[in-house]
Amino acid sequence: MVAFPKSPEQKLIDAVYKSYEKTENLSFSRLGASGIGEECIRKIWFNWRGFSKKQFEGRMLRLFETGHLQEDRVIQDLIRSGKEVYFVNEYGSQYEFEHDSGHFICKVDGVIKHQDKNHLLEIKTHNKKSFSALQRHGVEKSKPVHYSQMQISMYLGHFTRGLYVSLCKDDEKYYIERIKEDNAHQKSLIKKIESLINARMRPTGISEDASIFACKFCDHKDVCVKETKPLFHCRSCVNAIPINNGGWNCDLHGTLLNKQQQLIGCEDYQAL
Ligand code: SF4
Ligand code: SF4
Repeated sequence: MVAFPKSPEQKLIDAVYKSYEKTENLSFSRLGASGIGEECIRKIWFNWRGFSKKQFEGRMLRLFETGHLQEDRVIQDLIRSGKEVYFVNEYGSQYEFEHDSGHFICKVDGVIKHQDKNHLLEIKTHNKKSFSALQRHGVEKSKPVHYSQMQISMYLGHFTRGLYVSLCKDDEKYYIERIKEDNAHQKSLIKKIESLINARMRPTGISEDASIFACKFCDHKDVCVKETKPLFHCRSCVNAIPINNGGWNCDLHGTLLNKQQQLIGCEDYQAL
């Protein structure tokens, strides 16, 4: 088939999307609340240790940004409706709660006063299909990853209640659910965090050959079945050990590794 040259308008659209892609470099972060409810513990560990990195196209990155912008609008809606909402702490920063190890962090959307009690606030947007399932089955059943995110944030932030505020992107409908603390679930998440931090080899995944449906869209599929090697840097090396206060140590050289050094690796690298 003959490829037609792109029109100036199409080139402009491409340039807009491309502009979103420029900031997408490899960087390391801590384990986070938003992913801790993922079914596959190996996937969470691969994410944290940067085994592979999905390069999102600009259109998708713009879509993620739209979700964040909607959160601000939702907060303004709640304030206009008469609610007390606190979305930054006394230092003007987003509310954050850490696990004692320093390797796990919850960044929350805010705190809202509801029924005379402070509630942890979590805001999510959904497409129509996801929103309908949420209305039918509730957060715990239809959005287990969000449920876990709220439970661990409530636990580490010392809240007994949370408010899940969701908006349908297709028709601006709201669904709001009050979430109670679930001690058994919270304890299981703490155990999960600790086993991730203490793992010295690949944790067991949900499938040995990544053949099941749940693996189909996993960003780490190739590295999971050892078709490709992990990205080269300290975090995917057997010698990089998480230590106190969110720090990392090279067991071979006996040196602390800051984030910049972790990105570089060295000639003694040994893939996990
Ligand atoms: S491919 Fe499957 S088993 Fe492997 S990390 Fe991803 S979800 Fe887990
Ligand atoms: S400094 Fe070298 S040996 Fe140590 S963790 Fe990094 S890559 Fe591995």
